[in-house]
Amino acid sequence: MSLLRVEDVDKSYGDEEVLNGVSFRMERGDVDVLMGPSGSGKSTMLRCINRLTEIDDGEIWLDDTLVTGADTDVNALRQEVGMVFQGFNLFAHLTALENITLGLKRVRGMSAEVARERGAEHLARVGLAEQADSYPAELSGGQQQRVGIARALAMEPKLMLFDEPTSALDPELIGEVVDVMRDLAEEGMTMLVVSHEMGFARSAADNIVFLDDGHIVESGSPEKLFERPEHERTEAFLTGLQ
Ligand code: ADP
Ligand code: MG
Repeated sequence: MSLLRVEDVDKSYGDEEVLNGVSFRMERGDVDVLMGPSGSGKSTMLRCINRLTEIDDGEIWLDDTLVTGADTDVNALRQEVGMVFQGFNLFAHLTALENITLGLKRVRGMSAEVARERGAEHLARVGLAEQADSYPAELSGGQQQRVGIARALAMEPKLMLFDEPTSALDPELIGEVVDVMRDLAEEGMTMLVVSHEMGFARSAADNIVFLDDGHIVESGSPEKLFERPEHERTEAFLTGLQ
């Protein structure tokens, strides 16, 4: 059974159809990169997967949980789905380590000591062992985003969602975040990533999904999509990126 099944999902805001019959599946360990023009529905798609946004029709399944079920436990679901946004969303008054341990204590019910150990492990995993006691303002944007990734990973999610994780970063800081994401991909994390970073897409993605105007226009391996796109729309968009 696929880990993530998005089946014929529709979503409108008022009379604007934002997702229109979107279906795709991800296997465990897959890295899918969702690309498409601004306003094509990429963020909305991610938000529907952790119920930050409600769909109008269709179904989304994560493993054996009907994500979009009326009586689904949304808090439990969000422990299974880690999310990293464009902004870093760290608590300014907490250190890097405290930003991670907060959820472990409150949501996972860990003791302070166990949470600190777990948090320190995950900071080390993103190369920030030395920055545990730094406050967000003392960290670069790239370091803050890596703390955000460590915070999501510490919850041990089944699936990680990334929404343009590098688009708010100065160009010289993008590489360190992409490197962490590439490591995660190699370790077998299942990742659905909205990004236009061609380097990451080419080297880490199993599958590129091209969304335009709320429809999946085409999807396939990076080689297929980048070298031999079937649709003019895909080719025009991707040509504009490189
Ligand atoms: P993308 O991430 O691909 O740029 P979005 O999913 O953010 O696209 O947005 C798709 C469309 O839905 C856009 O036209 C956007 O204006 C609209 N939209 C997104 N969120 C909302 C909202 N909360 N209320 C109304 N319209 C929204
Ligand atoms: Mg977006």
